[in-house]
Amino acid sequence: MLNFTFHSPTKIHFGEDQIRVIADEIPADAKVLLVYGGGSIKHNGVYEQVVGALADHTWFEFSGIEPNPTYDTLIKAQDIIKQHGINYLLAVGGGSVVDGAKFIAAAALFEGDDPWDILIKRAPIKQALPLGAVLTLPATGSESNGNSVVTRDGNKLPFASTLLRPQFAVLDPKVTLSLSDRQISNGVVDAFIHVIEQYLTYNVNGKVQDRFAEGLLQTLIEEGPKALNAETKNDLAIRGNIMWSATMALNGLIGLGVPQDWSTHMIGHELTGAFGIDHARTLSIILPAVMKVKRAEKHEKHEKLVQFAERVWHLTDSDETIKIDKAIALTEDFFKRMQVPTRLSEVELTKDNIEGILERLQQHGMTALGEHSNITIDVSRKILTLAL
Ligand code: NAP
Ligand code: FE
Repeated sequence: MLNFTFHSPTKIHFGEDQIRVIADEIPADAKVLLVYGGGSIKHNGVYEQVVGALADHTWFEFSGIEPNPTYDTLIKAQDIIKQHGINYLLAVGGGSVVDGAKFIAAAALFEGDDPWDILIKRAPIKQALPLGAVLTLPATGSESNGNSVVTRDGNKLPFASTLLRPQFAVLDPKVTLSLSDRQISNGVVDAFIHVIEQYLTYNVNGKVQDRFAEGLLQTLIEEGPKALNAETKNDLAIRGNIMWSATMALNGLIGLGVPQDWSTHMIGHELTGAFGIDHARTLSIILPAVMKVKRAEKHEKHEKLVQFAERVWHLTDSDETIKIDKAIALTEDFFKRMQVPTRLSEVELTKDNIEGILERLQQHGMTALGEHSNITIDVSRKILTLAL
């Protein structure tokens, strides 16, 4: 295991009707900006619960954060922040709203000329407004990590800072009942792939992290399809297990002291930036091809793929090649059961699109991806070709 320091400062309030706790979590004298998206919270009762809980606070609101939040929208929040002396952000929504609130928090106190430099020049974040989150879509883990992804002119770029970890997050599985099947699928698949990207690398004997990761993968495989089945989809125990899995998948815990390979996400971001494909659907297309390209060598993913086959899919074949073949096929089958695509052709992309995607990776500096930084543009070409 590699060295690590663990600090996960987000206080989690899990369970039904927990939204009211925000009244006590946000300092009484704070000037709060309630940040939300396109209005789903106004149709499912979440807005009323939040407003009720903020009855004794001074608060303002900023809405309209879109899926895959854009710089152009987020930067508009700076006027209201300056005008009212906002000193606390409350993000209410899915990953896009929480990610968007993080950019707003960092931009508000950014000392350079243009906050876009945080993404394009990796300018350091030295201070940020504090934020809390009421999560409405289990997927990204953004409610308890310091990561964010923001898009400008089709360039979808990540940034991160421990200063952006929400101080608290409310996870009420009941608020997820208004999600469409597509959003549920996307969430389960995104969370599954977050786990895989911290698990399917080379073995450093991180046994605790591995077994946490395998538990999360098995939970998502078991519960995900039930959340799409008409007979079980409204079961709050199922929703709760999915919600908690998605948070645990990317709150930092399972990634401690182990190598990580975020190549699926980085290549996926280019597919969203260029073609507007849902985040999770880019990942379900890219991941199987990454597994296939990196399956052979022991120092790459071979050993962990065998472990994944045995412990997650309970495969017992003595031939390791067959075991890996089957594990990849079962992963693709799981994605199909979750109703997401596993090939570029399913989203109408062909080999003619590949060079354009590679150019974007090059432009964004994504030329040495993976746990060994050896997924070069040529290797990405191989991955995209296999994903056709
Ligand atoms: P999302 O983009 O936040 O939300 C997708 C849609 O779901 C929105 O239209 C939203 O509507 C709607 N929605 C949310 N909650 C709802 C509810 N309870 N009922 C009905 N509709 C609801 O989806 P997401 O998958 O959570 O976030 C995706 C973004 O996160 C991407 O930009 C991705 O790159 C990023 N991401 C971040 C991290 C991280 O660690 N920070 C990790 C992975 C991905 P409204 O707008 O109307 O609310
Ligand atoms: Fe993701």
